[in-house]
Amino acid sequence: MRFHKAEWAFFVFIFVILAAGLVMLQAYGLLQSFALEVRDPDRLAKVTYLNHLLFITSVLLAIALVFGTFFIYPLIRGQAREEGKLRAMTASLSARSETLEVAALTDSLTGTHNRRYFDTALGAYIEEFRRIGKPIGLMILDLDHFKQVNDTHGHDVGDEVLKAVGHCLKDMTRYHDIVARLGGEEFAVVTPNMDAPRLEKFGQRILNAVAMMPITAGNVRLKVTTSVGLAIWDGKETAEEFYRRADRQLYEAKRLGRNRVCA
Ligand code: GH3
Ligand code: MG
Ligand code: MG
Repeated sequence: MRFHKAEWAFFVFIFVILAAGLVMLQAYGLLQSFALEVRDPDRLAKVTYLNHLLFITSVLLAIALVFGTFFIYPLIRGQAREEGKLRAMTASLSARSETLEVAALTDSLTGTHNRRYFDTALGAYIEEFRRIGKPIGLMILDLDHFKQVNDTHGHDVGDEVLKAVGHCLKDMTRYHDIVARLGGEEFAVVTPNMDAPRLEKFGQRILNAVAMMPITAGNVRLKVTTSVGLAIWDGKETAEEFYRRADRQLYEAKRLGRNRVCA
C-alpha cells in the first residue's frame, strides 16, 4: 500500500501525540512518588492540582488521537485516493491523445501516413531544405486499372492490394522518407536528399517491385502495376507546385501506356 504525502504528515502528527502521551505518563509517575513524600498540606494541594492538570492534558491528547484517527485520517485518505484516480485519468488521457494524434495522421487501411501528414511534412522538408540547399525527390504513384481489380475480385481484395502496396513502399524506403496514401489508389513517397538520377533509379526499382509482388487475398492471387511520376524540387516552388509537377509526370506515364516511370 502506498501512502500520500498528507498521510505521512498525519502519521508524524499521531506519533508526536503518542510521544507526548508517554512523556505525560512519565511525569504523572514522578508526581505520584513526589506526592508520597510531601507532608505540607499546602504543597499537597498544589501537587493534586498539578495532577488534575496532567489528567486533563492526557484526556485532551486522547481526544486529539481519537478525533485524528476516526475523522481527520479518513478525510485525508479519501482525498489522496481521489487525487490518485485523477492522476491516473490524466495519464491515460494524455496517452489517448497521443494515440489520437497518431491516428489523425495515419491512413487506417494501409498504416502509411495520410494526406494530411504528407502535406505538413512536405511543407516542413521544403522549409528546412531551402536553408541547407539540398535536393528533395517526390514520387507519386497511382495503381493501374485498379477499378478493374475491384470490379473483378471485389472491394475487399482491392483493399488487400492497397495494403500490400503500402507495405512494399514502406519496406523499400529509408527511415526519413515519407510514404503516404494520398487517397484512393494513389500513394506518394518523399525522398529528402536524393538527386534526379538516384530518384529515377529508385522509382524504377519501386515500379518493378510492385509489378513483381504476388498478392494473395483469400484464394485469389493477382499482380498489379503502377504508374509513377517523379520530380525534384527546384529550390523555389511551393509544396503545392512541386506536387502538381510530379502529378503531371504521373499523368504522362498513364498517357504513355501505364506501368512506367516519367520524370
Ligand atoms: P488508371 O490506370 O487510369 O489509374 O485507372 P484506375 O481504374 O486505377 O483509376 P480510376 O480512378 O478509374 O479508379 C480508381 C478506383 O479505386 C475506383 C475506386 O473504387 C477505387 N478505390 C478508391 N479507394 C479505394 C479503397 O479504399 N479501396 C478499394 N478497394 N478501392 C478503392
Ligand atoms: Mg489508378
Ligand atoms: Mg487514381
